Amino acid sequence: MIPFSPPRIDQKIIDEVIDTLKSGWITTGPKTKLFEKRLSAFNGAPATLCLNSATAGLELMLRWFGVGEGDEVILPAYTYSATANVVMHCGAKPVFVDVRDDFNIDPLKIRAAITARTKVVMPVDFGGYPCDYDAIKAIVEEPENRSRFQARTEEQKMLGRILILSDAAHSLGAMYRGKRTGTLADFSVFSFHAVKNLTTAEGGAVSLNLPAPFDNMELYKKLCVRTLHGQDKDALAKTQKGNWRYDIVEAGYKMNMTDVLASIGLVELDRYADDTLVKRKWICDRYSEAFKGKSWALLPVMESETARSCHHLYPLRIQGVNETQRDAILQRIFNRDVSVNVHFIPIPMMSFYKSQGYAIADFPNTYRLYASEISLPVFYDLTEEQIKQVTTAVIQSVEEVMSS
Ligand SMILES: *Cc1c(COP(=O)(O)O)cnc(C)c1O
Repeated sequence: MIPFSPPRIDQKIIDEVIDTLKSGWITTGPKTKLFEKRLSAFNGAPATLCLNSATAGLELMLRWFGVGEGDEVILPAYTYSATANVVMHCGAKPVFVDVRDDFNIDPLKIRAAITARTKVVMPVDFGGYPCDYDAIKAIVEEPENRSRFQARTEEQKMLGRILILSDAAHSLGAMYRGKRTGTLADFSVFSFHAVKNLTTAEGGAVSLNLPAPFDNMELYKKLCVRTLHGQDKDALAKTQKGNWRYDIVEAGYKMNMTDVLASIGLVELDRYADDTLVKRKWICDRYSEAFKGKSWALLPVMESETARSCHHLYPLRIQGVNETQRDAILQRIFNRDVSVNVHFIPIPMMSFYKSQGYAIADFPNTYRLYASEISLPVFYDLTEEQIKQVTTAVIQSVEEVMSS
């Protein structure tokens, strides 16, 4: 069976983890701090905070901005549930909008959804392909939207407009107009979950990129305290001779990344651009090569004049199939020992969100894309022979179902 996206665990990763285990320091410490610095350098971002998940990072930043009851947050209907769940946690209302054919949020739909209650827009770089950030920025900066923005907290007053909080869970290393994700929005949140492009088993990071007069480094320091119970000294600082006394300066959260996990991240980041991303692009190119002559194949957009994907997913679409036929194709592919997936089941189709009054009928393009989508395996150790097995399984399965 060809798996969908197993992590790349080789001797280098194992050695680095063992090094951390033997060092006597396994929680947040030197390796986490180093990983943060390397991520900032990689993205060209002013500061980066590592956390135990992307979900934690999204919620942390919504709360930092004071998002709560009565507020609205605009996000695509086509994303993983984490993007919406964090809005619910804050007591605010998720306002879903439809996506374009590249699977990303439609800026024009964002503009139409803005009200006086809108506090945040959360674009999602689906599959690693960056959203249209110039268009999104222009919309939140429009004089009409600026004057409609009702600032309640100090942070909201200082920003003076809707916050752009990018769900960049898929898009570490992707480019938009010559810049890497991490500097395209006010905050960008990356995921290092086990199936993501760069993994630390579980983990995430927030790239801080607020405009002046905000001080991103100062905010970074504040968030370090906030994500460790509001304790004014971290565990490492407390180990210094006689440095035992500490204070709690706020009722903080527990969201820190550990050095065991950061050590995996350091190895992964070191070889990310020149090795991991090269291989992932190569795999996606092989798929596109195999399907481009098929009239039923709608190939994913991975590159345009302005943007370049980091190839997190290969979301193939089958032209002219309905959801039932797509499911039948999936089953036939599985029967040929190839693991495939669907990214994602849109949020308005989930029981909980249906119970909150959302309906997929309101997001026709999201449903159209979802009903015809099949994600193919993309992972570092995938071989040319396995790619052939995948493409053969897909072609045979699609043609069987289409002709029946
Ligand atoms: C994986 C994912 C998340 C959540 O990441 P975690 O690190 O697991 O919290 C959020 N948004 C999207 C689009 C994702 O795919």
